[in-house]
Amino acid sequence: MIQNLFDYTGNPFVDAGISALTIWCGKKQPKELTEQDLNAALPEIATLFTQESWIKTFYTTFANGPIAQPANKGKEREKWIELISEFKKELKPLGEKGSCIACGRRDAIRIRKEKRGLLRSEVPMTSGSLNYYSFASSGADYCGACAIAIQVSPLVFYRSGDKMILVHSSSEKAMRSWAKRAIKNVREQIQLRSYTGCFSENYKNPKNALFQVAKSLIQDEEDWASEPVAIRIYHFTNYNQGPELDYYDLPAKIFRFLNEVQHSDERTSWENLVKRRYYYIYEKKEFWQNPDEKPEKPEEEYKNNANAIYEGLLNDKWIVKCFYSSRDKETYINWKLLQLYLMEVREMEKQRIEVIRRVADEISAVIRKDESPNPKRLGQLERASTYASFRNTLRLIIKERIKGNAENPLFSLEEYAENLFPDGALGWRETQDLILFRIYEVLHDWLKSKHIEIDESEEEKSNLASE
Ligand SMILES: [Zn+2]
Repeated sequence: MIQNLFDYTGNPFVDAGISALTIWCGKKQPKELTEQDLNAALPEIATLFTQESWIKTFYTTFANGPIAQPANKGKEREKWIELISEFKKELKPLGEKGSCIACGRRDAIRIRKEKRGLLRSEVPMTSGSLNYYSFASSGADYCGACAIAIQVSPLVFYRSGDKMILVHSSSEKAMRSWAKRAIKNVREQIQLRSYTGCFSENYKNPKNALFQVAKSLIQDEEDWASEPVAIRIYHFTNYNQGPELDYYDLPAKIFRFLNEVQHSDERTSWENLVKRRYYYIYEKKEFWQNPDEKPEKPEEEYKNNANAIYEGLLNDKWIVKCFYSSRDKETYINWKLLQLYLMEVREMEKQRIEVIRRVADEISAVIRKDESPNPKRLGQLERASTYASFRNTLRLIIKERIKGNAENPLFSLEEYAENLFPDGALGWRETQDLILFRIYEVLHDWLKSKHIEIDESEEEKSNLASE
């Protein structure tokens, strides 16, 4: 029987530490880790963790632990190794069952003279006081191996301002890929003897950080096409005064969409769209009294602004309004990328998308016949604010097509009920957005040449609606 020390547990701190050890020791899977690997790795990790910039990390993650305690100044390494040795005393392979709350396959340890379980100084986000626990228990119940994993988990943390981000995923491959990314940075620090603490790319906004984590995974050489990857990040601080914890989820369908975009010709187009939404806020919020003083904003400064695209994706909101401008009669991406968004993120049927596109193309042909400076039907489609007014405009367009001896009807009854307005008055705005998007894509140059008058107040309203 093979006796493994480690396997993923579902506990985010333990799993982060297991991924960290796996990558640090050059293994492919946690089950390959041996006690010899731990004996070699832990002293190296102790040296790293007791560098000045890393000690600061421990104020955030293990307040009052052996490295963060002011009383241990100068002896941090020795004290940490002492704690680890306590955990190692009862190192056992995974069994069938046990009282550890993380793995459930080994019994929890009792440490020190107090014979207690683990406290907040050893496990982030647990209670700092024995009083918190029920009468029969003292401290949190973890086995020695899981406790060691928790202690080394900062190797793969992602620093976010004065908080930390812990990356957890439904996919073990994704957790290892993230560990690879973070440990690459840590190894560079060691090589250059330039220690900066936990891996950071200076994302203070946790939602933007989550998308950056996804991007790092996607850019790894791993093939993600057949792997469902949902990512959860925990954004936390374990300070003595006021520990805080939030979490953010990136569903597997969003990861799949981002992965497909990254490997398609639309990658640059998507990146520019995301940037445009950062810029939008930067341009609109009146930062600068005198526009001449407005500096060139490097990415470093705006990447912590809220981004409507990312917010919309995380909150499962319809974001097609961010993909075009009614004012400029312009689309920022093409139909191909829009279709990918609709199918992967909105899970829209391909047939519905195709019917809407064909109908929008027919409507574009009708609009193009309008020789007036402001094409009337386009204005009506843009301004329609109720289901009834939108349907009425379509009815007028149908009449015009009949007058112009169109060969086929604009749409069949089935298409109307199943594809254009499947949810009736509830979902008609989606169809309006998609039709307008397609009209701007098809007629952009023609509309541009007409110098249509712009109603700025309307534009402002529609932009705010999409924030
Ligand atoms: Zn355990």
